[in-house]
Amino acid sequence: MAHPPVVLHEPREVRALVRRLRGKDQPVVLVPTMGSLHEGHLSLVRTGAKLGPVVVSIFVNPAQFAPGEDFESYPRDLARDLDLLAGLPVTAVFAPEQRTLYPEDSDTWVEVERLSAPLCGAHRPGHFRGVTTVVAKLFGIVGPDVAVFGQKDAQQCLVLHRMTRDLEMPIELIFAPTVREPSGLALSSRNRYLDEPDRQRAMRLSEALFAGRDVLRTGERRRDAVEAAMREALADLAFDYAEMRLLPDLAHPQVVSEARVLLAVAAHVSTARLIDNLCLQVTAGEVREAPLFDDATLEAVSARLAAGRVDEKENHG
Ligand code: AMP
Repeated sequence: MAHPPVVLHEPREVRALVRRLRGKDQPVVLVPTMGSLHEGHLSLVRTGAKLGPVVVSIFVNPAQFAPGEDFESYPRDLARDLDLLAGLPVTAVFAPEQRTLYPEDSDTWVEVERLSAPLCGAHRPGHFRGVTTVVAKLFGIVGPDVAVFGQKDAQQCLVLHRMTRDLEMPIELIFAPTVREPSGLALSSRNRYLDEPDRQRAMRLSEALFAGRDVLRTGERRRDAVEAAMREALADLAFDYAEMRLLPDLAHPQVVSEARVLLAVAAHVSTARLIDNLCLQVTAGEVREAPLFDDATLEAVSARLAAGRVDEKENHG
């Protein structure tokens, strides 16, 4: 019978576990979450488990909530989360206390400056600084070989990719596709704030993205026209942005040609601030959905991990 994974609260316990797992010559995988788990989180676990033993972290990170946001009311239910993880190949859950990650004299921040500035960064002051800081702490504690994140938070993926590269962190990042309800609504812990009429309204976000994509599919390549279609779909909602940006640098040119683009929206429905995006490969004759990074596929990462282990063996005789 499925049983809940072991829950660790202290960094030294996680380090000891990861040392033991590493001894078996397999990549250790971290899936960072804020809990209130849903099928989107579980899909990250399943993806990670194809590579090696999985540690799921559950921590509602105060530093990534801007003043006045929903840090206090963010849904927390560790018992339910553990039940959901019980059926999955999860080796351990790391659920630190706030004072463990942010002791009173904590004084260090990690910031990716330019990529954190537009989109959500422009509307949630300090948000990405909070994300990069907590993920750097988790990486420092767990020391995973691989970490899995969801493309649902595409800007977060870009920012974390840049952080690991700039800080030479020896960690492979995998970005897993967004899990949606059949209606198109992207799964989110904040969907719990929505009643049925709210959920209907929340569908506007994915509809806006599909509207933007469909405009591109007519051959239109001007940013204004694509963004106007997205804004029109969101007209009933208070929205923060509806933008078409280039990947991977989030540039905002007037016209796109052959490019990988991100359509991104953020809007308020009742008390929930929701985000969604589509990543599209645009060529002269075609507009199709694509991963954020070509090289982030599971196969490419497995190959790099295998090559890394060969290198290490060669270097150490
Ligand atoms: P959160 O608990 O909201 O911080 O999310 C933890 C991880 O789950 C992040 O990497 C998110 O991008 C990812 N995630 C959240 N929602 C989804 C979804 N609908 N599909 C795929 N991944 C998701």
